[in-house]
Amino acid sequence: MNLSTRAIELTQELLRFNTINPTHPERACAEYLARLLESGGFAVEFDEFAPNRTSLVAKVEGASADPSLAFTGHIDTVPLGGAPWSRDPFSGGRGSSDMKSGVAAFVIAALDLAKLARSHSGLVLLILAGEESGCEGAFHLARQTTMLGKAGALIVAEPSSNRPLVGHKGAFWLRGRTTGVTAHGSMPEKGVNAIYAAARAVSALQQFRFDVAPDPLLGKPTLNVGTISGGLNINSVPDRAEIGIDIRTIPGQEHEALRRRLRAALGEEVALEPIVDVPAVLTPTGNSWVEDVFETMTGILGSRPEAEAAPYFTDASALTPAYGGIPTIVLGPGEMAMAHQTDEYCEVDRIGQAVEAYVQIARRWWKV
Ligand SMILES: [Zn+2]
Repeated sequence: MNLSTRAIELTQELLRFNTINPTHPERACAEYLARLLESGGFAVEFDEFAPNRTSLVAKVEGASADPSLAFTGHIDTVPLGGAPWSRDPFSGGRGSSDMKSGVAAFVIAALDLAKLARSHSGLVLLILAGEESGCEGAFHLARQTTMLGKAGALIVAEPSSNRPLVGHKGAFWLRGRTTGVTAHGSMPEKGVNAIYAAARAVSALQQFRFDVAPDPLLGKPTLNVGTISGGLNINSVPDRAEIGIDIRTIPGQEHEALRRRLRAALGEEVALEPIVDVPAVLTPTGNSWVEDVFETMTGILGSRPEAEAAPYFTDASALTPAYGGIPTIVLGPGEMAMAHQTDEYCEVDRIGQAVEAYVQIARRWWKV
């Protein structure tokens, strides 16, 4: 059976595992992949950030002391959503683009490359749980430095229609809470209105300016207040309100410093709590490995890809710094536009194309 067919079949097998985050843990899916990789000569280890929330590290040690090439992907998916699906989401839908096709493609490529990896500088596969809820699996694994091993470059197989993307913005999501004192709605002077405090915070956030120059590729950082809630009934002074703040950052912005600036702008009356905190990732296009990947992909895609960034964030926010800021590319067979959609699908031809891309990129990494 050729590699493309094997990768398509493995995609279908992975889709049959319900790994909806957070209700359906990844363990069975991770164990299935572990057995497959073990039979292909990989050494496997598990890492759980919570019970049954299982990530998998699979390695082939190389004979050479040069750094390994690493691949990563996540096996959790988002929920199905409220709208009905026109076909069974677990036989070829949810997770097909985002991103079980990507995981299947690099696993099949890695099994094919195992022998070559052993006689050169090895391979590391990081197959992760808990990405969709803020890279929980990746941040947990990033602290297990012996498990990570050493890698010199990272491919993130998130959906990109096989276009190589050189980075993405960071995400800094915060919950802002205000508190007040409740009173009867007919005597507001006896209370302290938490919604008024939240409204002042929203106005301050609308005026907030980032003091950074835009990144040539990623553009400007952004801020959006996405949610607001507060109050229990119309005839009481609300003593609690909450806003949800979604900030997208660019390289060079320290999230902790940004939080201090927000605290200064909003004052004491708003308690800020980070919900998602993942830094931006960007590899300069002049990097020699990035150049190699672009050259390889020019041959595979038929024209030279543009330097582009991903609109979403990835596990690279945790993994790239853990590996000491190694060059990182997002490249996977899924369709970006299909991620998180009802009736999610992926293009079958892209899966084989991704396997071919991963094989060629690895061979070039080892110079064979
Ligand atoms: Zn994803």
